[in-house]
Amino acid sequence: MRRLLAAAALAACACSSGPAGTIITNVRIIDGTGAPSITGAVRFIGDSIVAVGDVQPARGDSVIDGGGLVLAPGFIDTHSHHTGDLLDLPEALGAVSQGITTIVGGNDGGQPYPLKDAFDTLAKVQPSINVAYYAGHGDLRSLVMGEDFKRKATAAEVDSMAKLLQQELDAGALGLSTGLEYDPGIYSDRAEVLALAKVAAAARSRYISHIRSEDRWFWDAIDEVIAIGREAKLPVQISHVKLAMVPLWGRADSLITLLEAARAAGVDVTADIYPYPYWHSTLTVLFPERDFSDRAEAQKVLREIAKPEGLLIGRFAADTSYQGRTVAELAVRRKEDPASTLMGLIRESIAYEDAHPGSGGESVVATSMDEPDIVRLMQWEHTNFCSDGALDGAHPRGFGSFPRVLGRYVREQRVMPLEQAIRQMTSLSAAHVGLTRRGTIAPGNYADLVLFDPATVIDNATPKAPHAVSTGIVRVWVNGATVWADGKTVRSRSGRGLRRQEQ
Ligand SMILES: [Zn+2]
Repeated sequence: MRRLLAAAALAACACSSGPAGTIITNVRIIDGTGAPSITGAVRFIGDSIVAVGDVQPARGDSVIDGGGLVLAPGFIDTHSHHTGDLLDLPEALGAVSQGITTIVGGNDGGQPYPLKDAFDTLAKVQPSINVAYYAGHGDLRSLVMGEDFKRKATAAEVDSMAKLLQQELDAGALGLSTGLEYDPGIYSDRAEVLALAKVAAAARSRYISHIRSEDRWFWDAIDEVIAIGREAKLPVQISHVKLAMVPLWGRADSLITLLEAARAAGVDVTADIYPYPYWHSTLTVLFPERDFSDRAEAQKVLREIAKPEGLLIGRFAADTSYQGRTVAELAVRRKEDPASTLMGLIRESIAYEDAHPGSGGESVVATSMDEPDIVRLMQWEHTNFCSDGALDGAHPRGFGSFPRVLGRYVREQRVMPLEQAIRQMTSLSAAHVGLTRRGTIAPGNYADLVLFDPATVIDNATPKAPHAVSTGIVRVWVNGATVWADGKTVRSRSGRGLRRQEQ
């Protein structure tokens, strides 16, 4: 009874002085627009920011002293695979502990189908983080073509995909994503992708692409994504932009010149990037012709794309003792040359997966990018940051991407001012995926916020310890509720599914 009375008294107090809010005082506010920071306070009521700057607490407000640290908009991860384990891990440790408040799934052509059900599930699970989705070309293609996907689609099949895409856009997809280096997307031709991009354009949405090649046929793949933007007349984004082959190293300026020329000609082409010289995917993606017994190709891979000591096995269901070992180490263990090991691992994984469907196959963390290219591409003003990471993945990007940019590249290497880096994690990201009330600290926007220490923030996750939590991310709010504080997740249930039409 006493508790009930106390609650009544609190409510009465709030009524007499307007709704009680929360105010974060004594912070260096970086608002996400790229403007210089200001010192002050941010006040929010419920899920929305109401005042920014020279603001005093109102009666009944909870007051949080920010201790002079930086307060920024929550980071928006435009290319995330954190969605994959979100139902099992709704507190989203890997994401919220690095300051991410919104994740965008459905990338690389893969989506949960149908999105209507995915949004219903999110509403039931109530994760600690906001989630938006693209519609994925690969999954729509599989629904239409089934196992018979290793060919061009017929006009009728493309039409069926277009209908499914329209259904997913109506359900709230941000646009169309493709994964043209993966099965089944790799078997599509440009006309198929263009036809679907036109459906996305008619819905005034957008196109985001893991392009057809990040190595051998890189320039053709860049030409394709620009052509899609020009001909379908919609914004196009290059997912996790990279130059992933030794002969491409040093060509970042050539790429930016090409993209700037396209922009000057009216194509809204942009990119996202994660801050690591190694990617995480499957061994099979290294063979675009899908001939895994082609020794010359295997040797070329090991010479020009990733060295044997740079191919670290993440997952290997056929023999889990291989996990955490490089192809170089396994070649010694198997007493064979590295090309034989590379081909053998793929052969053994496929055989195991055939005998044990759904066992998990294989994955690899492959070092194939050059640091100066990464820096140059992240400095492009139309590049936003992403993680490409997962909550339970083998690549450290799932836990470290954003603190790594802030610590390693901004503080230590000074590759860009802090305000610019924050812009590329927030307002630019929001613009690139079509979110309107997130990405800046401004009255009326949702209270997605991150408090961090710019003097100490740094990633701790590594390929050997990919789930190590970062340092310096002090507190994180999603829709006005704390999701991360004192080095621990807080089960807020405040995350939401974000449908395109509601933005
Ligand atoms: Zn990808």
